[in-house]
Amino acid sequence: MILLSVSSAIAQQNPLKSPAAFLGYELGQQFTPQSRVLDYVNYLAQQAPNRLKVQEYGHTYEGRPLVLAYVASDENLPRLEQIRENSLRMAGVESGQVQGNQPAIAWLSYNVHGNEAVSSEAVMQVLYDLVNPANEQSKQWLQNTVVLIDPMVNPDGHERYVQWYKQAANQGGNAAPYAWEHWEPWPGGRPNHYYFDLNRDWAWQTQIESKQRIAVYNNWLPQVHADFHEMGPEASYYFSPAARPFHESITPWQRQFQNTIGDYNRQYFDKNNWLYFTREQYDLFYPSYGDTWPTYNGAIGMTYEQGGSGRAGLAYQKEDGDTLTLAQRIAHHVAASKATIQATSEKADQLKQEFRKYYDNNLHNPAGNYKTFVLKADGANTAKLQQLTSYLDGQQIKYGYAGKSSSAKGFNYATGKNENFKIGQNDLVISMYQPKSTLVKVLFEPQAKLEDSLTYDITTWAIPYAYGLQAYALKNRLEPGAAKPITLATSALSMAKPYAYLVPWNSVDDLRFLADVMQHGIKVRMAEKAFEINNQQYAPGTLIITRNGNEQIGDELDTMVRELATKYNVSLAATETGFATSGSDFGSGNVHSLKMPKVAVMTGEGVSAYGFGEVWHYFEQQIGYPVTAVNTSYFSRVPLQDFDVLILPDGSYSRVLDEKTLENVKDWIRAGGKLIAMEGAASFLAGKKDFDLKLKEIEDKEKSKENQDPYADLKAYGSRERAELAGMVQGSIFRVDLDKTHPLAFGYDGDYYALIRSTDVFEFMEDGWNVGVLKKDNYITGFVGAGARQKLQDALLLGTQEMGRGQVVYMADNPLFRAFWQGGKLLFGNAVFLVGQ
Ligand SMILES: [Zn+2]
Repeated sequence: MILLSVSSAIAQQNPLKSPAAFLGYELGQQFTPQSRVLDYVNYLAQQAPNRLKVQEYGHTYEGRPLVLAYVASDENLPRLEQIRENSLRMAGVESGQVQGNQPAIAWLSYNVHGNEAVSSEAVMQVLYDLVNPANEQSKQWLQNTVVLIDPMVNPDGHERYVQWYKQAANQGGNAAPYAWEHWEPWPGGRPNHYYFDLNRDWAWQTQIESKQRIAVYNNWLPQVHADFHEMGPEASYYFSPAARPFHESITPWQRQFQNTIGDYNRQYFDKNNWLYFTREQYDLFYPSYGDTWPTYNGAIGMTYEQGGSGRAGLAYQKEDGDTLTLAQRIAHHVAASKATIQATSEKADQLKQEFRKYYDNNLHNPAGNYKTFVLKADGANTAKLQQLTSYLDGQQIKYGYAGKSSSAKGFNYATGKNENFKIGQNDLVISMYQPKSTLVKVLFEPQAKLEDSLTYDITTWAIPYAYGLQAYALKNRLEPGAAKPITLATSALSMAKPYAYLVPWNSVDDLRFLADVMQHGIKVRMAEKAFEINNQQYAPGTLIITRNGNEQIGDELDTMVRELATKYNVSLAATETGFATSGSDFGSGNVHSLKMPKVAVMTGEGVSAYGFGEVWHYFEQQIGYPVTAVNTSYFSRVPLQDFDVLILPDGSYSRVLDEKTLENVKDWIRAGGKLIAMEGAASFLAGKKDFDLKLKEIEDKEKSKENQDPYADLKAYGSRERAELAGMVQGSIFRVDLDKTHPLAFGYDGDYYALIRSTDVFEFMEDGWNVGVLKKDNYITGFVGAGARQKLQDALLLGTQEMGRGQVVYMADNPLFRAFWQGGKLLFGNAVFLVGQ
């Protein structure tokens, strides 16, 4: 009591400072660095300890803090923990009854795209207005609403933009559209440290910012989530209702409340004569956005988009002659924030009731054709299943193991048919009768119904294909049995000093093991052909660590190999002989010694920042192997002989690799180098001298048109967006036919599925190796335009070509896309570590 009266006495003497009073400039006059934004948030928490609490929930890759501010009434702030648990109880994630009065929970996220920097300016005003004791409106809203505010989801991107802008801008800003300050340099501030778009990462959680944030989100499960963005500077303002397509899993209530929130926003915008648009452009389909993912977790999820972004600076002269200022952009986001909180507060009872109903339906009456998903634990699947379970844990999705064998009928993901099959006791079982069943449905259903093909992103992502797992979807309910975790059958190694160790090549874990073993200076061999030893069959790609060649390590070898095998959970075997009962002995030419490759990857202007970031993240964060980024700006001076592998991520290379530089690259390949050309890089090499690759052309339009509609050229202007769709593939799944005798395909026992996002595919090569191809019936699921489908038949996706003593690996498909396509990660490792050895 004493403490409270003292703090309110202080507040009376020193009224709460507005952002301007605290920062020393009006909001909108400058961009505020993260440290100052956090200073202000912490200041508010100190001044209003009964209204605002700050939690640091993690750090970015570059070490910046990630924080969450909790704003609540004097009554609710001390009982935040109870309110949080109540929310989970309402969702059935925790057991027990709701205790006390439960407020509605709104979570507002700002600045997930770093260069959409207005958000973190607006948030300071929003926090001030919420906390300010003189603000009666806020006081009223907070009576039945708790507001969670993430002031900066992506600080690394924000600082990249803001620090650059300060260097490039005129004092006070220059509105001329061609002023330097409106042209961010490569790669721009939108993505995070590894150039991942965090607003494509909610469902996959590949980045630490997402992992740490969503762990907190899952502990709260708010009823409303709003994500603040910016779009191009010529656009006005976008708020809900969202555009079509809506995913079919979005409930009638969620659709209806999209309109309600829109109504609240309209009132603020109409009153001020501000322009806006709704129901266009931003759809609710792909599950990895800050609007859809919360929606599939029972919230009302929304995106807000202000015209501006990294282009707009402090002021920007638009084509219509008006000047867009940062201050205006701030005002709009503040208004939308208030509209959201007001709507949450005024509809709190209904929101809570519908939230309960949503989770109740999920648990007792889940939607969709399929009620159970079974993922087979056979052979090579085991390691992949372990990756899947840690993914499911991050999504708070419940699963278990069959526990006993039985017969069942279900949709086979591999064949696309309903079939009888046997469930094994170690198979993973996911029942739809659980709180997160909508999310399970969205992530696992083989075919997502697309009510409108004009969408913003990829159209399919079904997890069994992404993980390359053998899986079935069952129409009947099947609950998992005992929750028995799978353990890999590591044969007890009785031999103290074996002749050799063997590791089958099946999964990314095996790849991580290889990467680490190599870095310990251990020499590793690889079997090119299948063999049998000690009555065990080994597939091509099996790693062999012989004592021979590793003498310099001495007795340490056994300890090191065994420890690393345990660390990466790989299946390690040992043998006392180098004699294979079938196949090649270990001294054969078919058993190759693997050189530890020195890897370089191209970065900089011309290279896709996302494509580069995916490769960078893969080496540093996923497999733990050194990689050197070399920049396009000085590439011609890089001594290529210092490297064994050069990776060219997606990009446009015409200015990077001029004729002379490309000749140097070819000389390096001929001398034994390995070039891995991905997507745009492969397309760039197609048709160039000495490269065996040819782009697949669209078939001659004129010829086919003669027999068809004579009015085919008369297209309606109003349908122009739609007409483009025919030639498009926006992210669809195809089964790839692999040449499993080629090292690029080692470890792929079952099917490999690719997420195809482009029609830039190639003709079969005459001289090279066509390792991964699309034939006639390889389409699985997702939207593909009629013209595109034709092009994606009889096409080369993955190939290699020998050039002198070196190799070129072509990848029309990017297996590292957004780091969530688990099925492709071993394949990329094959390209780096096995091909050409
Ligand atoms: Zn954005």
